[in-house]
Amino acid sequence: MKNIYILFILIGIISITYPTITKASGELVIYSARNEQLIKPIFDEYTKNTGVNIKFTTDKAGPLLQKLMAEGKNSPADILLTVDAGNLWHAANEGLLDNVNSEILNKNIPAHLRDSANRWFGLSVRSRTIMYNENNIKDELSSYEDLASDKWKGKLCLRTSKKVYNQSLIAMMISEHGIEKTENIVKGWMSNLATPPFSNDTKMIEAVAAGQCDVGIANTYYYGRLIKKKPELPVKIFWANQDSSGVHVNVSGAGIVKSSNNKEEAVKFIEWLSSTKAQNLFADINMEYPANPNIKPSDIVSTWGDFKSNNINLSKAGELQVEAVKLMDRAGYK
Ligand code: FE
Repeated sequence: MKNIYILFILIGIISITYPTITKASGELVIYSARNEQLIKPIFDEYTKNTGVNIKFTTDKAGPLLQKLMAEGKNSPADILLTVDAGNLWHAANEGLLDNVNSEILNKNIPAHLRDSANRWFGLSVRSRTIMYNENNIKDELSSYEDLASDKWKGKLCLRTSKKVYNQSLIAMMISEHGIEKTENIVKGWMSNLATPPFSNDTKMIEAVAAGQCDVGIANTYYYGRLIKKKPELPVKIFWANQDSSGVHVNVSGAGIVKSSNNKEEAVKFIEWLSSTKAQNLFADINMEYPANPNIKPSDIVSTWGDFKSNNINLSKAGELQVEAVKLMDRAGYK
């Protein structure tokens, strides 16, 4: 009996936190961890082209997954849209996403940017690479691993290990180097830090610009946003690991919610997102890279140059996330 009361209270809390979305037939409901300003123009374009109405709700990835789990079979959601392969992997691992058999998606999205069981698909690519102060650094940069060497003592800035972007970066390094070597690299980073880790990429890049440190690791779209506002900042992008495994990339992407009663329409929408026109809309709006390799990045993004990216399947970012978090903890990475 007591359990029933607790259940009612929980349902009450969930419905107060999230007003229920009701769905008309033919309409798509999307749960999005991407901000409204990054997705609304794309949804509007789709509605304009197809007449299909899109309703959406935005929140951080964690709460959206909780919501999907709490709603279960009764969820109105058709599509989950979120950043980072680690988050997409979690949704798939919780059984929330359905397999999609789409020739279009298999053709448009490279295998390493989608789930091997096709439960999620990367739709834009974000590269997480080295940024440096151009006044202090000339040509001595090479790789993420090298940032652990003594020559960077007191010169390195990083974002907090709490951010999934860094958890994914470390997870991918574990898949490449194994735990022991990766742990030594992260320990090396820790002994090279100029200052405790920053709460976000932008603050970290600003610290590099201010000369508080000479190098750091960040997603390039944060660089793009910052340099657009302050073009005079003496920060440049360096493409890491070009002589070895390539730049660490991640995705924002989508999957079809298992309980969706509108899967056919939902697949069509994701297929459209992987197509030429939508790919540019989707990537350019946040200064990211199209996931479809046949499509060029925006003019601004292109000025940062071409690079070789790491092609290990991004599922590893999810599979090894727990290991990555434990490793960073052991290495003292806060
Ligand atoms: Fe971000």
